Amino acid sequence: MQTQEKKPIATTARLQSIVDYGITLGAKAIHLEPRKGSMAIRYRVNGSLKEERHLSLSEYNALIAQIKLKSNLKITEHASAQQGIFHHSFKKNAFKVSATVLPILEGEKVVLHIQHTNPKPPTLESLGFWGQSLKTIQQTLSLHRGLIIVSGKRNTGKSATLFSMLSTLANSGLSVATIEDPVRHVIKGAHQTQVNHKNGLTTEMGLRNILLQDADAILIQPLHLKNISELIETTIQKGHLLFGSLHAVDSAEAIHHLVNSGLDKYTAAKHIQLAITHDQVRTLCNNCKQAYAPSEEEVKMLLREFSNNENLAIERLHILEMAAKDSGIAAERKLSTTYGKIEQLWKARPNGCQNCNYKGYKGSIGVFEIVQNGIELQKILLANLGRQSLRDEIKRSLALSTKQDAIVKMLRGLTSMSEVMRLQTIREQD
Ligand SMILES: [Zn+2]
Repeated sequence: MQTQEKKPIATTARLQSIVDYGITLGAKAIHLEPRKGSMAIRYRVNGSLKEERHLSLSEYNALIAQIKLKSNLKITEHASAQQGIFHHSFKKNAFKVSATVLPILEGEKVVLHIQHTNPKPPTLESLGFWGQSLKTIQQTLSLHRGLIIVSGKRNTGKSATLFSMLSTLANSGLSVATIEDPVRHVIKGAHQTQVNHKNGLTTEMGLRNILLQDADAILIQPLHLKNISELIETTIQKGHLLFGSLHAVDSAEAIHHLVNSGLDKYTAAKHIQLAITHDQVRTLCNNCKQAYAPSEEEVKMLLREFSNNENLAIERLHILEMAAKDSGIAAERKLSTTYGKIEQLWKARPNGCQNCNYKGYKGSIGVFEIVQNGIELQKILLANLGRQSLRDEIKRSLALSTKQDAIVKMLRGLTSMSEVMRLQTIREQD
């Protein structure tokens, strides 16, 4: 053991292993910090810094020189800030590492930011789409025309859904172009444009150029209609498939916003194919989650979300849970409901376990509201009946609301009753 530890490790191998380890941990950044007499390596994982390794001064100096060499920085410069980029590969995946070097009192501090350069697009199933919602999206995508609205609050997974849908279209041979601010994912096979106001590259300019270049599917992210509502209308009317992403709490707000900011109501009624609203719930740790028998109060609360008639509600809920299981949502687990009863609910174990960093939760999953255009929706749009009528109609025609989706996922053991309740609180504040 002793002899092995003392064996000098080549600095290139050391840098490789430090970055490899960061990727394994899922770290966004690696901090290399000089301390008195030694150096610490800390990894930024899920927002907090974890100290993992120490190096001697001479090892550290060699490491910094190696990082500077790889990033095309001046090796002998120790008194000024420098930044550069190097490329890294790990298990056949490519990463871009941006290195910043800053002189501090104790020496030079280096921060490495790790970015996956060609991540695989997620499947819609892995994002949490299932059953009828999934089928509706797939059918609409195959039409290759109209407007698809992707909405939700910040950080609820909109861009991951777009990444998945547009990658599928690009893969199937369609010409896909985007105009984005900012570009969030590199879509293989697509032509992506970053909005740049300083250089006059506005959304309008980008879209005009895209239209000249014969694109089949176009993404505008975010979709603001200011000054370009006519251009958007022409794009849709000409038969392109247009995706627009915007911040809105639900589909009614998103559609209402578009019509209110200048999108012609006839175009909206005829061409809006689909509105997908996103929210997110935390997923329970698979290792320590707990099933429990629900209280009467909880059962009533859940059933009310589906119907005022409790018998109908439990029947519907059971059918939905079976469909979710058939769709592969925790397919290995037995059902939590029968036609007459909710048998169990799920919660996080207090203080979790080692696997979930003592949180009880690990990761998150999307919950969705999918609205397909239909006669009733068109009538409301054409009659200018306003947001509340739109919301009422959408509620009537909806296969599943985000909260109902969350309830089904909770019954399948993916999330907890308290996460479902959290969604309700947000809704009630709307
Ligand atoms: Zn756990």
